[in-house]
Amino acid sequence: MRETVTLTGMVLTASPMKEYDRRVEILTRERGRISAFAQGARKAGSALSACTLPFTFGDFAIYEGRSSYNVKGGMIQKFFGDIAEDYDMTCYASYFAEMAQYFTRENMEAPDELLLLYMTLLALQNKRIPMKLIRIIYEMRMMMISGQSLELFQCLRCHRTDTKSVYFAAGGLVCEECAKKEAPLAKSYPFLLGGDALYSLQYILTVPVERLYSFAVTPQVQGELEHFMRSYLGRYLPHHFKSLEFLSE
Ligand SMILES: [Zn+2]
Repeated sequence: MRETVTLTGMVLTASPMKEYDRRVEILTRERGRISAFAQGARKAGSALSACTLPFTFGDFAIYEGRSSYNVKGGMIQKFFGDIAEDYDMTCYASYFAEMAQYFTRENMEAPDELLLLYMTLLALQNKRIPMKLIRIIYEMRMMMISGQSLELFQCLRCHRTDTKSVYFAAGGLVCEECAKKEAPLAKSYPFLLGGDALYSLQYILTVPVERLYSFAVTPQVQGELEHFMRSYLGRYLPHHFKSLEFLSE
């Protein structure tokens, strides 16, 4: 006999199905990203209506059918209502959800990805730091969780750790002095990352997730970080996220 299981997770996407149903993708702690049907969720007064909206975090009672999962009920722990009502926040949250979707799959538990997404939406809602910085922090940390982080703590060539500014190269960073000996490096990645920007990146990689969204940077550092992330993701994440089209650069 098949049983109903309770999974903790966040709704990433929801789309209408048939006349009254909804198909949702939920990033769960226990089973990774699953796709499930919520029968009658779009009927007026349905108990499934609220808990199957995007960015709802909670415990879901899921029945494992022969070919698909079915949502039988949900206990909402946190609903990010402010996000749904703000266009910019919705765009960012949709991008974060799409990236989480990209890095997770079914039957691969995803507690780190789920916690990161949760803390990120919380930071969006709290509005204490700019959305553009939230995006950088999220991208950086998600790349680390997915095992694609760079060597950012020492020079790739001479291994010194006390450099103030560095060049970005394949796999990590190269100090200014080593870069001088490699003309092609400065040519292909013609930018320096200053000490503050580098420290910010190191902080993002090492701090507990609960403290990720607790710092601010100057516009200058913000610019360096944005430049760095575009270059980094351009090389290591060859995927076009549809939701990015809605984010202003
Ligand atoms: Zn060096």
